[in-house]
Amino acid sequence: MVYPTLRSFNVLMLSIASYNGLNAAQCAVALMAQGVAPLDACVEGVTLVEDDPNELTVGYGGLPNEAGIVELDAAVMDGASHRGAGVAALRNVRHPSRVAQRLMEQTHRVLLVGEGALEFARTNGFVEENLLTERARRMWLYWKRHRSRHDDWRPAPEDELPPEDRDWLRAHLPGLAGTVHCSVLARSGDMACVTSTSGHAFKLTGRVGDSPILGAGLYVDNEVGSCGSIGHGEANLENLSSFLAVEFMRAGLSPKEAGLEVLRRVSKNAHHEQRDANGLPRINVHLFLLRKDGAHAGVCLHGQKHYAVADEHGARLEACTPLHS
Ligand code: ASP
Repeated sequence: MVYPTLRSFNVLMLSIASYNGLNAAQCAVALMAQGVAPLDACVEGVTLVEDDPNELTVGYGGLPNEAGIVELDAAVMDGASHRGAGVAALRNVRHPSRVAQRLMEQTHRVLLVGEGALEFARTNGFVEENLLTERARRMWLYWKRHRSRHDDWRPAPEDELPPEDRDWLRAHLPGLAGTVHCSVLARSGDMACVTSTSGHAFKLTGRVGDSPILGAGLYVDNEVGSCGSIGHGEANLENLSSFLAVEFMRAGLSPKEAGLEVLRRVSKNAHHEQRDANGLPRINVHLFLLRKDGAHAGVCLHGQKHYAVADEHGARLEACTPLHS
């Protein structure tokens, strides 16, 4: 199928993001309106979320790994140059998306992990700090004390955590996770996207999810559109969900249909232990799709989820379409 060229579209300026990226999307649009390049605008937007200590799944304040250490994953992709880069299991630096952008701009490499990513960040003057907030440390310790009857730890008293943190932790375990994704479309027609996360809470040390992997946690093709994802990273790695979504849009599917088609694949490929008694996946994956002409959609495997949309008129949350209702 021949995809319409940019000239056939009346190009808008637009940003979409995961539900926790309303500010990121709004910031990105405001910066693009001032002439800031799409990727710079997108990274600046995501930086706001990385800085937020109350966002427990991204950047500073993100929940740590099993050992109590915050390890961050992020990637950026620039549509105009079709270049991207990611950093994974990065410690002590709160803005992994900025580090990924530097990697893309300064080197020929696409992925750095762990100590190498940190060394690269140091070389670039990024400030090192402890990313584990007191709130996140207490939630981690609570999890550690409650996870087993067969280790050295006694369960923590019920009032060890504020009730809202305790209830939130219980409601989301296992598989407690979250991420911010932001995709932008500039008036020039150029696109870019960024995904940033602290990954699954209490993950194995060194575990890397989909967020820093081009094609899994994000992907953009300047001729077609962009897609980013949050949710069960391993499912996106096994299905290359973001790449596939862009390819389905290239083949002519609408953003919503492209996203649902990817989720049908994810659902079909879900592992046995990831399914409920009815055979439906218990894991969730959300995809945020932005096409070159400004059409967009958010889809998820199940649940009543939302995604953020920002344009020159402001920012709002819109409903995601669930595959399994
Ligand atoms: N996709 C992220 C990861 O697997 C987590 C999430 O978005 O919920 O690391």
